[in-house]
Amino acid sequence: MSEEAIIVTDAPGSEDNLVLPFQIEEQNVRGRAIRLGTTVDQVLEARDYPEDIAALMGEILALTGLLGSIMKFEGKLTLQAKADGAITLMVADYESPGKVRGYAQVDQEKYDALPENPSLYDIFGKGYLAMTMDQGADMERYQGIVELSGDSIADCAQAYFKTSEQTPTRLHLSAGRDPVTNRWRAGGLMIQHLAHGEEGGPRLMVQEEENIWEHLKVLTQTIRPEELRDPQLTLKTLLYRLYHEDGVRVFDPVSIVRNCKCSADYLLSVLKSFSPDQQEEMVENDKISVNCAFCNKDFFFTLDDLQKG
Ligand SMILES: [Zn+2]
Repeated sequence: MSEEAIIVTDAPGSEDNLVLPFQIEEQNVRGRAIRLGTTVDQVLEARDYPEDIAALMGEILALTGLLGSIMKFEGKLTLQAKADGAITLMVADYESPGKVRGYAQVDQEKYDALPENPSLYDIFGKGYLAMTMDQGADMERYQGIVELSGDSIADCAQAYFKTSEQTPTRLHLSAGRDPVTNRWRAGGLMIQHLAHGEEGGPRLMVQEEENIWEHLKVLTQTIRPEELRDPQLTLKTLLYRLYHEDGVRVFDPVSIVRNCKCSADYLLSVLKSFSPDQQEEMVENDKISVNCAFCNKDFFFTLDDLQKG
């Protein structure tokens, strides 16, 4: 099966499309920051989303990059929001190293009926956010689920970490159009308070009371959404501004590219798995057309193609 990689080329010196892991010196606090330029712009512009839906999609994509880049092994992380509101489905996935994609399904009728400045609940209605991590055959598949609630995607993911992983986490996400270029940009910042010492040490929830964690939470909250995606402000400068008094150490960045796995070979193998009757039902104007929901690419096949090989 051939895979066509869409490699994004950014201007020289660009500090976009990467995740920067960091640690607060001598503390059990780790974090990562993400900045997306062309990567998020390509995903959002592939489909004609309403602006506020595109912004949510951009935030989910930033979150996927943050969480996916934590995986220690080759693997795949999928975030999927399923709901009964104006958005019925929002999916983003990450495949190591650093390949992301995503799309949203919009119920146009419900979207048109939304109030002005809709809340997260107005947009999604009732639903949940599921996270699935797959790290190859030897590792267990892992899935966690949390109700879609709170004021933002970041709130919702924070609640997930609190209930499913018992890891105190602070998350900030932002997506929006650059005021100068009008291109989409996204950014995110996450800090986590990790367990210290040996297994059987004090529970993490107790640590949330610790002064240092409170202090870092307050510092992290001072970040403005525009700063998270500001092309003039590198992630290193941003982290330095926030945490320089405590000391912040950054690790090697991970590049994030937009990549869709759709290929004619793969789609052909899927179509071949249908019965001849079903295949015939799919034919319209002598051909079967398939659209990739992620990248909006169209593929066309004839019944002859399906019989070959
Ligand atoms: Zn595709």
